Amino acid sequence: MSVAENLKDIRSGLHPGVELVAVSKFHPCEKLKEAYDAGQRIFGESRVQELCGKQSTLPDDIEWHFIGHLQTNKVKYIAPFISLIHAVDSLRLIEEIDRQAKKCQRVIDCLLELHIAQEETKFGLTPEQCIRLLAEGKWREYGNVRVCGLMCMASNTPHENIVRKEFEKAESLFNEIKRDFFNDAEYFCIKSWGMSHDYAIAQDCGSNMVRIGTAIFGEREY
Ligand SMILES: *Cc1c(COP(=O)(O)O)cnc(C)c1O
Repeated sequence: MSVAENLKDIRSGLHPGVELVAVSKFHPCEKLKEAYDAGQRIFGESRVQELCGKQSTLPDDIEWHFIGHLQTNKVKYIAPFISLIHAVDSLRLIEEIDRQAKKCQRVIDCLLELHIAQEETKFGLTPEQCIRLLAEGKWREYGNVRVCGLMCMASNTPHENIVRKEFEKAESLFNEIKRDFFNDAEYFCIKSWGMSHDYAIAQDCGSNMVRIGTAIFGEREY
């Protein structure tokens, strides 16, 4: 199936109000253009250099999301144009995003990355770390960063019940964090969970932003 057909298929299965981020990492600009021509405007990339190359080539009305692990020394390259940074997992990164956003006279929207999957990874905040970071309050001093919600990845397992439990955990944490830290903040509303193989479950568990690559563009060639 073509990129346009895949997109149509996926969109028809999304609940109302769920945003689709087309994850285009490792795919060439021609593929992204096909998606663009089919009406897609939000694209997600996970490597800074690749993102910057594509951003300078493709149309200006694309909203670029950074979905990968972001090193502090690379924030400056994406700060001028990035729409949303999904995987923020330290105060140090918030501080650097703030610094670069100021230079560009922008406010950059970010999500905090939760580590809820069973897999060992270095990235993401455990629920306890996430709540501690927010409770300490220092993040509030960074006026050019706006924390708009949470992002997470579920375990990569065929066991649906495990994936569902993890997304439910993310959903309940979101509600708790919203209540305790962002009660009056309308902008704190993004729940970014769900990828090609688990976005149906993610939507059942409150996701309102899914990040889908393979199901749109096919397998990636690394
Ligand atoms: C690559 C990637 C995706 C998309 O994965 P697919 O399985 O191709 O849909 C989503 N989120 C993150 C953080 C990724 O790195």
